[in-house]
Amino acid sequence: MKQIYYKSTRGNEKAVTSAEAIARGLSEDGGLFVPTSIPKLNTKLKDLMHMNYKQLALTIMREFLTDYKEDELKMCIDKAYDEKFDTSIIAPLVKYGGTYFLELYHGPTLAFKDMALSILPYLLKTAVKKLNNDKEMVILTATSGDTGKAALEGFANVAGTKIIVFFPEQGVSEIQKRQMVTQTGDNTFVIGINGNFDDAQNGVKQMLTDANLLKKLEEKNSMFSSANSINIGRLIPQVVYYFYAYTQLCNRGDIEIGEEINFSVPTGNFGNILAGYYAKKMGLPIKKLICASNENKVLFEFINTGIYDKVRDFVITMSPSMDILISSNLERLLYSISGQDAAVIKNLMEDLSVDGKYEIDSIMKKGLVDFYGGYANEEETAYAITEVYKANNYVIDTHTAVSYAVYQKYLKETKDTTKTVIVSTASPYKFTPDVMKSIDAKYVGLNDFELIKQLSRMTNIDIPAGIVDLEKRPVLHKTKCAKNEMQMQIEKILNI
Ligand SMILES: *Cc1c(COP(=O)(O)O)cnc(C)c1O
Repeated sequence: MKQIYYKSTRGNEKAVTSAEAIARGLSEDGGLFVPTSIPKLNTKLKDLMHMNYKQLALTIMREFLTDYKEDELKMCIDKAYDEKFDTSIIAPLVKYGGTYFLELYHGPTLAFKDMALSILPYLLKTAVKKLNNDKEMVILTATSGDTGKAALEGFANVAGTKIIVFFPEQGVSEIQKRQMVTQTGDNTFVIGINGNFDDAQNGVKQMLTDANLLKKLEEKNSMFSSANSINIGRLIPQVVYYFYAYTQLCNRGDIEIGEEINFSVPTGNFGNILAGYYAKKMGLPIKKLICASNENKVLFEFINTGIYDKVRDFVITMSPSMDILISSNLERLLYSISGQDAAVIKNLMEDLSVDGKYEIDSIMKKGLVDFYGGYANEEETAYAITEVYKANNYVIDTHTAVSYAVYQKYLKETKDTTKTVIVSTASPYKFTPDVMKSIDAKYVGLNDFELIKQLSRMTNIDIPAGIVDLEKRPVLHKTKCAKNEMQMQIEKILNI
């Protein structure tokens, strides 16, 4: 098997093993770790068909994590995809009204972040061991709502780690917030910031590369890592479910092996859809990756014009996990479509930080053919929830609704009849006020916990274990800070 190493998108760094890339999270030059090449899948598509989720995960992930021994990887996978998920299928593909939905929200925190964050702690612990590192790992995490809880859940009480989460105080749903501030575990820290997700992510990225801070940490025998999708250990596990959707479609007899399909992905930080792009590069027959944005439509414009422009008002929408203007993982795509030219990426990222925008050249623009960019406004998103419910008695969440609405636009515009999978990223239980309000105006004004009960009655589905007693759990985290006080909070927690 070909060895895969990892380099920074900004180039100032020698190639490292995947264990080192995962342990460090972000390269010191501010770039993101990327594989030196995307491995081709060594197994024939037809041999994937009988595999369960764990077997498939091993087959895909070992192509990327070539420095992990097979039994190490197997242990990580076994511990991740177990009874934490409410179905042994892990990521079921369902069909309603001729449309396929890949439900990625059956993990403990009810959003797709569990797909990667249930395995990341094991990948990280194994990495640290492989590197003979005895340092305490401090996991810095910015969240737009879902990563935070999934990371807390994954790292709570993991020996040798501290997990610190920053969330936008005004930018997450009530349920998302309750899930985080009620987190137990002595090594967990949750802080609300007076700012938006971009502020939180910028703060985290800055600290991860602050030489002074890193030195102080070193003196304490600690080191930073990140649970955000800037960590390559978040992305690789996400490649698996693109293959899994495909094998489920084949096994239903709905496509032939080798037939191309599309995916419509509700996108914020560009992590999920990038995993789909990596799946395509590995050899999965994907025609289009439909990049669905909400009213923060930077990516829609970028895909259609080649100009990335974050200078605009930040809109708070009913799909808060996609309220993002700086999509970190796009840097990895840029690296790929520039022919791995780190100097180009460095310049573009400098333009972004100085002018708030950049434009790619015409050759790079050609690399965007794999994508279709669309967006849905609030009204269209609400309508998608209504439409899917009325037609099928199936309730989708606000993020999935964006992806559904954009797919409808794509269909209208292109008449492309290729089978398409809507990537469903969260349970409707996480966003009940907006979901229920879209279905019927009579639900306006009811509180989250009342609506959770109503939703359960309406769908005949039990309230998911992850939130069933949420109302009663004590609030354990009350710290709030200004966006320029994040480092101060870290220094206080770490006593440095
Ligand atoms: C994080 C998230 C997204 C966006 O995913 P990215 O990988 O950041 O593009 C979409 N929907 C939900 C529910 C999420 O939690």
